[in-house]
Amino acid sequence: MSLPFESHAQLKLPVSFEFFPTKTPEGALKQRDVRKALYVKKPEFCSVTFGAGGSTQAGTFAMVQEILDEGVDAASHFSCIGATKASVREQLHTLKAMGVKRLVALRGDLPSGYGAGGEFHYASDLVAFIRAEFGDDFHIEVAAYPEVHPQARSADADLQAFVTKVRAGAHSAITQYFFNSDAYFRFVDDAYQLGVDVPVVPGIMPITNSSQLMRFSDMCGAEIPRWIRLRLQGFGDDAASIKAFGHDVIVDLVDQLKNGGVPGVHFYTMNQSQPVLDICDEVGL
Ligand code: FAD
Repeated sequence: MSLPFESHAQLKLPVSFEFFPTKTPEGALKQRDVRKALYVKKPEFCSVTFGAGGSTQAGTFAMVQEILDEGVDAASHFSCIGATKASVREQLHTLKAMGVKRLVALRGDLPSGYGAGGEFHYASDLVAFIRAEFGDDFHIEVAAYPEVHPQARSADADLQAFVTKVRAGAHSAITQYFFNSDAYFRFVDDAYQLGVDVPVVPGIMPITNSSQLMRFSDMCGAEIPRWIRLRLQGFGDDAASIKAFGHDVIVDLVDQLKNGGVPGVHFYTMNQSQPVLDICDEVGL
């Protein structure tokens, strides 16, 4: 199977890091140290998540500004569900004025208790809107789901939705995290057959905390293979064993992805530097 983009199997792979906005001044200070440690890896960009319904907008934009001020390309995640075209236009003008050149364009999920509403239904609507209003001002990343988005009608419908989103004008994609490289390679191959020709970068979640991982995975539909789940359960509260096991599992996964020629690796850092640095060091990123 060949990947639809230039293979990086033999080259130094581009890496990118994802953070979530901090809530306190102390948290923001700590995050500066985390980012500084990760900048050693010369990331292609660092991205900052956007809370459901825009709930973290100020924190997201503030962290994006800090990253830009640190001389690193910053991507703002941006979700459209529940928003109006006027409010999206205004926020995008703000980001453009800040010097932001990269967005992760998402539908997002409404916080419980919010009605649907809004003028955007899917991420593809947002991508088309950004391209129509801002042309090439932003490099647009979109989300991809090798193990199928949890609300999708079917795997085929989800794949088609991904293709539609790319055709609407996305420049590249980042996947939801997964632990089975076959799911990624199959997804990319199928998308390629349907005409997708943009890089689809695997999103990697380090394993450091088993209860948090199980909670996230249940919410976002990422499958934890049975053997990994059972091994993690077997470690109980033994944090050191969980970290050591998690490190080995993710190093193997990234090795398989590298050998398969992925176009880059995006890390969900969970605002921690050490687990990501350890993985990068071991796999030569
Ligand atoms: P879409 O691509 O719009 O897809 C949503 C659902 O609608 C899918 O089931 C899809 O199959 C279906 N669909 C799409 N188009 C159609 C159509 N035309 N007809 C019928 N069905 C359709 N969440 C946050 O709140 N903040 C973040 O910062 C954030 N960052 C993320 C970053 C990455 C890399 C990833 C993978 C996910 C991220 N998420 C984030 C989670 C994301 O918001 C949720 O997964 C959300 O439920 C879907 O957003 P989307 O942009 O993928 O939606």
